[in-house]
Amino acid sequence: MRRKPQSPQTLARLLTNPYWIPRFIARQTLIAMGGPAVRALTPARGLPERSAWDVLEAVSKHTSLQHAERYRTLLCPDCLTRFHEHKVALPDRSLPLYGCRNCFNSETVLGCPGEVVAVLDHKLIGYWRPAGDTLRVNALRRHPPFHFDRVEIVDATDKEVARLVVQAGNDPDARRRARRRQLAENEP
Ligand SMILES: [Zn+2]
Repeated sequence: MRRKPQSPQTLARLLTNPYWIPRFIARQTLIAMGGPAVRALTPARGLPERSAWDVLEAVSKHTSLQHAERYRTLLCPDCLTRFHEHKVALPDRSLPLYGCRNCFNSETVLGCPGEVVAVLDHKLIGYWRPAGDTLRVNALRRHPPFHFDRVEIVDATDKEVARLVVQAGNDPDARRRARRRQLAENEP
């Protein structure tokens, strides 16, 4: 039977374990976890500041090595949101952290250097399909909010088109809403 993965909070607590093996395993697991470990490592949660800073620095290095060069071409497969350069504030400096702008995930990625197209087409199968540099997302199955650069209506009813407009309009992410406004203004 596979063991349930431990939460970042549980792992953060293990950093103060009196035995070095659980401390070592917790540290390595948090580093590999990347972005989601960050929230569990804030010193305000009762962790000694030095332990938290040390692991935050290692997490920052780990995500930088993995993603710094191409983070703009990556999407989070869970949120379909672009990766972002977050800043983690330490008392004396801030560190970069590359991960999903929405959920901080940095472990799993979907490469997409080109556009993300929200496609309304009953013939599309599955949730998304890479097509060259672009990613075609089946907007009839994977409903917004998610990141998309344009919409393609191939085969959909007026009601389905209207539903996509409403779902995109209700997006809680201010940055995505602003980007869509910009795209609409640039439409010929
Ligand atoms: Zn995400």
